[in-house]
Amino acid sequence: MAAETIDGKAYAAALRERVGALAADFEEKAGRKAGLAVVLVGDDPASAVYVGSKGKATRAANMESIEHVLPASTTQEELEALVDRLNADPAVDGILVQFPLPDHLSEPRIFTRIAPDKDVDGLNPVNSGRLMAGLHGFVPCTPLGCLMLLRDRLGNLSGKDAVVIGRSNLVGKPMAQLLLADSCTVTVAHSRTKDLADHVRRADIVVAAVGRPEMVRGDWIKPGAVVIDVGINRLPPEDGAAKGRLVGDVAFAEVSEVAGAITPVPGGVGPMTIAVLLRNALVAAYRHEGIELAEDAI
Ligand code: NDP
Repeated sequence: MAAETIDGKAYAAALRERVGALAADFEEKAGRKAGLAVVLVGDDPASAVYVGSKGKATRAANMESIEHVLPASTTQEELEALVDRLNADPAVDGILVQFPLPDHLSEPRIFTRIAPDKDVDGLNPVNSGRLMAGLHGFVPCTPLGCLMLLRDRLGNLSGKDAVVIGRSNLVGKPMAQLLLADSCTVTVAHSRTKDLADHVRRADIVVAAVGRPEMVRGDWIKPGAVVIDVGINRLPPEDGAAKGRLVGDVAFAEVSEVAGAITPVPGGVGPMTIAVLLRNALVAAYRHEGIELAEDAI
């Protein structure tokens, strides 16, 4: 039987709506809008599109979008000075610096400089440490979005066998921590993992965050498993088309024959990332103003 396709686009739209309603509530209580600052360095067209759509989504969710577009020649000192100003600005609740940065700039020096209480991308080691210790902090948007989709599909995750393929700071590692906190038995696989398919075959939950087109095959999947495909890969163009197709890290058609549920690419995890970013920025705003927000509100 074909797997259920998990509609991340619809889930993300509903989440953005809930955030928008709570952001309006926040404005009424705090007398100001929640503010999200996005910083883009350089003129990478894909990043520019992404930053533009973040600004639009922020405004649509009743929040203030503060956008800084800096030239590729920006120095480390100039970028750090901007981060310092945003850290000190009471109108800014969340700060996101769009990565990758141009080669001459250090990403770790930037993500460690963003104040932990404004670090809505969850990359500051204070926030990764909080995640590991089971304390409130900010969790990177993509893995948190994956967790929301998993909980929505499966309810309680306790006792499930989960395999996370990929161990990046942005996706794989925080994903593994989130699943562990939900009492899954977690295996983290990476490029040196032996017999990857055998690990995946034991999993009730598979999260693929690798960056290799259609690597996870149908015969790797335990019947009924839930498969979350984080990968975004563009194939070479076919038949004179200007652009190739976007595919995930999972061979969708094959895996759909075996899995219980699967996220498509596009339209699965991707739309969740921006929605969770707005969610994190709003949570930061509530915390900054000391206004209570119910644990399960968003
Ligand atoms: P990274 O390149 O930082 O990490 C990739 C991980 O995959 C590494 O841990 C690497 O292992 C592992 N890996 C590489 N080759 C293999 C292999 N053959 N077998 C098993 N593991 C392997 O990528 P990200 O985590 O940042 O992103 C992963 C994918 O998710 C990309 O396609 C990216 O575009 C996409 N993405 C999507 C987002 C969304 O919003 N949907 C957001 C962020 C990312 P090792 O550590 O050993 O090198």
